[in-house]
Amino acid sequence: MKIEKNAWIIEQNEVIKEKKDFYESIFSLGNGYMGVRGFDEEEECYNRYELCTYVAGIFDYHSTRITDMVNTPNFWKTKIVINGEKFSLDDGEIIEYRRSLHIDEGNIRRRIIWNNKRGDKTLIETTKCISIKSVHNALLSMEITPLNYSGEIQIETGIDFDVVNNLISDDQMKNDIKVCEFLCDGTCGISQEGVLFSRMKTKNSQNEIYESFDIEVLGDNVDYRVENEISQDNKYISKKIKLSVKQNETYNINKYISVWTSRDTSFDKLETAAIESTISAKKLGMVALLEENKKLWQEKWDIADIELKGDETSQKAIRYNIFQLIQANAENDPKVSIGARGVMHGRYKGCYFWDTEIFMLPFYLYTNPTSAKNLLMYRYHTLSGAEKNAKEQNVDGARYPWMSSTDGSEQCESWDIGFCEIHITPDIAYAINHYYQATGDIEFIRDYGIEILIKTARYCRSRFTYDEKEDEFNMLYVKGPNEYGGATLNNTYTSTMAIYNMQLAIKFMALMNERYPEEYKAIKTKLEFKESETDLWNTTIKKVVIRYDKDKKLYIEDDNFYKAEPLNIKEVKDNGEPLYKKISFDRLQRYRVLKQADVLLLMLLLPNQFTFEEKMAAWKEYEPITLHDSSLSCGTHAAIASRLGLMQEAYDYFVKSVGVDLYDVMANTGREGIHFASLGASWQAIFNGFAGIEVVDSEPIVIDPKLPSQWEELKLKTLLKGNLIALSISENKICVKFESGNSETIDLKICGELISVRNGDEKIIDIKESLMKYQI
Ligand code: BGC
Repeated sequence: MKIEKNAWIIEQNEVIKEKKDFYESIFSLGNGYMGVRGFDEEEECYNRYELCTYVAGIFDYHSTRITDMVNTPNFWKTKIVINGEKFSLDDGEIIEYRRSLHIDEGNIRRRIIWNNKRGDKTLIETTKCISIKSVHNALLSMEITPLNYSGEIQIETGIDFDVVNNLISDDQMKNDIKVCEFLCDGTCGISQEGVLFSRMKTKNSQNEIYESFDIEVLGDNVDYRVENEISQDNKYISKKIKLSVKQNETYNINKYISVWTSRDTSFDKLETAAIESTISAKKLGMVALLEENKKLWQEKWDIADIELKGDETSQKAIRYNIFQLIQANAENDPKVSIGARGVMHGRYKGCYFWDTEIFMLPFYLYTNPTSAKNLLMYRYHTLSGAEKNAKEQNVDGARYPWMSSTDGSEQCESWDIGFCEIHITPDIAYAINHYYQATGDIEFIRDYGIEILIKTARYCRSRFTYDEKEDEFNMLYVKGPNEYGGATLNNTYTSTMAIYNMQLAIKFMALMNERYPEEYKAIKTKLEFKESETDLWNTTIKKVVIRYDKDKKLYIEDDNFYKAEPLNIKEVKDNGEPLYKKISFDRLQRYRVLKQADVLLLMLLLPNQFTFEEKMAAWKEYEPITLHDSSLSCGTHAAIASRLGLMQEAYDYFVKSVGVDLYDVMANTGREGIHFASLGASWQAIFNGFAGIEVVDSEPIVIDPKLPSQWEELKLKTLLKGNLIALSISENKICVKFESGNSETIDLKICGELISVRNGDEKIIDIKESLMKYQI
């Protein structure tokens, strides 16, 4: 991939079969409501399941209780026939090719000069956009110029409902050959205004999907005819445009698409909603729609952008990551979360993991807190599913699933991960507190969060097993974030997070009692909460087994850790490819290696619970044997290395993390789609790592930056408790500007010094010792 000087454009200048998948992932477009992989409009040689278009929250069952994110109709589909020859990148000659993703404006542009077999040269320029402003609309603009001939061009553009899903197994070693048809009962029609529309529903979950579109042909004296077509099986609606073209004249055809589902409005209103949104989009026109979309993107960038001066490669990658994070999030929908591969790829059946709460949420929390709240509301809305899981597993409270889709029931089909990787539950409790500490939104805790905290604390308490002889609580058969650790005993990450979950329930119940006595009483009644539960949590907390080596100041990952056999990872690991491709999971769990950050991640999440020495001891123990076989790992290592002052290591890990997708570091972006947790982890490496911003359990908020020598300046903005702060950090200077917000002043602890900044003011702090200093 070419690195453009302009760090706002991602560009493809080559058409190479082997890289088709990769570019399709990179050029994914979306707006949280829907997402599309970056396949071309004219693409038709593919398997039907490879043209992927998803709508957030539209899942269907393919076996008992197990869902898949439904591949929905292909609304880009367009065929261009030039003097009788069909345009295709596989035929004829490509004289010029450029595809560019404009992350500042949120659209993709393609410019191709194509020579057909007759020698007719045509310039085809397209712009595609999935609007973040009007989330039901997708837009396609085509400009076609015959360069050396006059003749006839036919354009057929439509919506193709003949799509299927490829059921991708949770197990990355399995071949995914099963194909499943979820869409059925198609009916189509044409409105009085000429809008073509179609309706289908999902077989088992009975979601209705309505899609419609209209086109326009612009220009004076254009000689054309349009025919509407509905296929006999009701699976394809299209408009055929016949143009008599003249050499060097440009013909502009615009397509306005609308997508609605029964998740948006009641069944009887869907048809009208779909048709009307196409009509009003066409009325506004392509130029205005692209412009308003660009404006909204600019507002988003105004807060979310990060500048890394002096490092063009990382600059481009972090912007790309931020772009993907913004466009994958349905910011106003409290009933969906973000899949591990967003809404643009079917891997992991579109399911939501801890990836959202631990890795992605912080980005939204500090740049767009309302959308962070909605992500947590998804967990509130699936709480009853979590309670059901707990009941079925004979434990108390609520147990969130490792993989979640519509109702909070467990979607993970592998026993060891689905049953044992239980840290997702306290991770969600952690995220609720994180949201509170970053925003100060106590009403959210009062109205929703407290219920989650109590029910998850109950689960955590009952998941420990009491050993009467030793008078202690053990966590048996548990899998930590290091998934190579097997179903083990006393995973330090999980037990510490479970303790934290119980502590949060205790803390917020006390706060409720003090601040909202009426609501406190109500929640006690609703949840049959007795004060004695707090005592039970307190006693349990004191007796939980956490393995700690006092002499080495080392937290030990789990009880089996030193029983596993050492492995020389340099001898077995090839480049970025995960080791499970070479050594089976079963064998790996008996080697003393880590798939991804485990104890180190805990230390990043709860920085104040561990000393510098303990963090350093953990780094020295675990970093050398960590394989980073999960894309979530390098970002965490970059952040923690930076906190430890290991700036070269921090930078090296950051580079690996930030480029996971754009530079295909793990060589799997094409096959696997965009790794959303890794995007978030890279953002955290900057926010918590290099900028050194600590909010959780830090009063006042701490800013303690360290810079890699590769950067001249790091600039970012963040929302802290409703106040917008702009930070710029260079080797010997930190500039803090309190841009706007409700508070009169904000107190910060910058490089150990307490600093108060008034609303509207700017403070410059001169640093004597270089922020680039390597600490050990
Ligand atoms: C990682 C998990 C992660 C999942 C989805 C796995 O490979 O080990 O931590 O949640 O992928 O991203």
